[in-house]
Amino acid sequence: MARRQATDIAGMDMKWYVVRLLMPYLLEFKGRVGLALLMLALAKAATISLPFFLKYIVDDLDRQSDTSDTVILVTVPVLLILGYGFARFLNVMLNEVRDSMFGRVTERTIRRISLKTFDHLHGLDLDFHLNRRTGGLSRDIERGTSGISFLMRFMIFNILPTLLELVIVISIFLSGYGIEFAGVIVLALIAYVIYSIIATEKRTRFVREMNQADSATSNRAIDSLLNYETVKYFTNEQFESGLYDKELANWEQAKRRSRLSLFALNGGQAFIVSVSMTVMLWLAATGVVSGSMSIGDFVLVNTFMMQLFIPLNFLGFVYREIKGALANIEHLFKLMGEKATVSDSEGAIELADALPTVVFDKVSFSYEPERRILDEVSFTIAPGEKVAVVGPSGSGKSTLVKLLFRFYDCEAGSIRVGGKDVRQLQLKSLRSAIGIVPQDTVLFNDSIYNNVLYGRPDATETEVWEAIRLAHLEAFIKSLPAGAQTMVGERGLKLSGGEKQRVAIARTILKRPAILAFDEATSALDSKTERSILEALREVARGHTSLVIAHRLSTVVDADRILVLEKGRIVESGSHKQLLTSDGVYAGMWRTQQQERSREQEVETLVL
Ligand code: ATP
Repeated sequence: MARRQATDIAGMDMKWYVVRLLMPYLLEFKGRVGLALLMLALAKAATISLPFFLKYIVDDLDRQSDTSDTVILVTVPVLLILGYGFARFLNVMLNEVRDSMFGRVTERTIRRISLKTFDHLHGLDLDFHLNRRTGGLSRDIERGTSGISFLMRFMIFNILPTLLELVIVISIFLSGYGIEFAGVIVLALIAYVIYSIIATEKRTRFVREMNQADSATSNRAIDSLLNYETVKYFTNEQFESGLYDKELANWEQAKRRSRLSLFALNGGQAFIVSVSMTVMLWLAATGVVSGSMSIGDFVLVNTFMMQLFIPLNFLGFVYREIKGALANIEHLFKLMGEKATVSDSEGAIELADALPTVVFDKVSFSYEPERRILDEVSFTIAPGEKVAVVGPSGSGKSTLVKLLFRFYDCEAGSIRVGGKDVRQLQLKSLRSAIGIVPQDTVLFNDSIYNNVLYGRPDATETEVWEAIRLAHLEAFIKSLPAGAQTMVGERGLKLSGGEKQRVAIARTILKRPAILAFDEATSALDSKTERSILEALREVARGHTSLVIAHRLSTVVDADRILVLEKGRIVESGSHKQLLTSDGVYAGMWRTQQQERSREQEVETLVL
């Protein structure tokens, strides 16, 4: 523990190497960065000149009694006073100019890094995204970019110039006023820096606790309000209120600790500053009395000390923030370092066939090593054919589509499209040849029209409406007051399952893929919706090679071939008729579904 703190104090666990990673972005604007640094140097020069102006003004005023020459008496202080005003203005102005010039560099860096991260995230595997919380990801990016902005501003314009100023002031004191003045400053600074870092490290724990308590409180409130109906069902308002207050009490306590630790930090810093200022003034006053220093020197020493400690006041804050910023940026860069396992192989080629054959050749696959999902699955879909896969839930049907789309690569065997192993094909060319209507369609929070247009963003309005018509969505859209401009809500939640799936079909029709994969929704749809989806599907399948995953066998009676998948193995295959004749698993499933259907119809007639 003691060792850890020692390395912390030396700043060893600060991720300084991150600064190196940012260099290329800074170098993109070499000129601007150079100019900003020049402004910085000039502003610093102006800052350092201020105490000198004051010294000479005071000395001049002091000499007033010794001279009778009114011209010198008036002009010299007036010029000096004007000079002082000008230097002060220059100092502020140059800093403003520098900030606005450098702002451009920071903004461009953030833009470049955000875009790069976004593209990178889209390039990563499905698995990566399934294992991640999207909210967490976007928070990581946000924190990383604000870390960059903070680091650039404070590193370049706060820490470095303060260090520079320190060196200059110490040398001025050393050369002009003797070792004791320089010594006091150095000692005061060492004490100040060590105290600030130790107190900040201690305080970090309290700040973290406070932030945690803060999020726990808001999580509690959100969860409770989201469950508004449940709370009412069980009349648990009092109980919820108790839980919330418990979180609030934690927050209150954490906040108190954090406040007290800030008090300790600021109090300690003020003590060190006051002691060192008093000692310096004592030394200067002694110098004035002994005649080795003028009153102007006394003012100069005091002004330098005040000027120096102002930026140092932020030290605790800057230290903590920089540490946080470095960690956040490192996190962001680590995210960028994540490698996709599925990517274009070297020399990947484009898919040449307009209507390719799809072949699964002894394909085996598992998501996790201990649990095999597909076991030597083999089948072929000839161009224009419709092959259906049926089987119990969890038997691996959707996994077939994921492998065909190359969300994952198979462990053994191969999948060939147009005669080529999918691993040899360019991902983009393979994926643009496949249209997928997933089981659970997720829509963008946009209008129905734009969600359909997403299938081919450059499609004309006529084409979009044609797709909407073919997907049997037209009547539904016409019944809506806002028509195709109706917003679908977050993830499309304002549409029913059947409507969402038809939007997905429409956008797939618009995409015009060579291969179509349709993953039927598991939830039971009413027979009218089911019929319109089926008809829509038939439209899409026309002239396509299609793979249909079905839960309702009525969907696939017209398929060229039906594969029955059980525990990742194909146990039967053939046309609907052949499978019924052979009286195996499929025939059993068919009978069960038929019985269920007739029972439903009986109930329907009874109700009516
Ligand atoms: P359903 O008919 O219910 O849609 P399915 O036959 O389409 O089922 P798949 O979605 O292919 O089944 O899933 C096959 C098995 O793989 C399931 O047991 C599922 O739990 C598992 N599985 C799916 N995705 C993953 C994943 N990303 N990681 C681990 N296991 C997974």
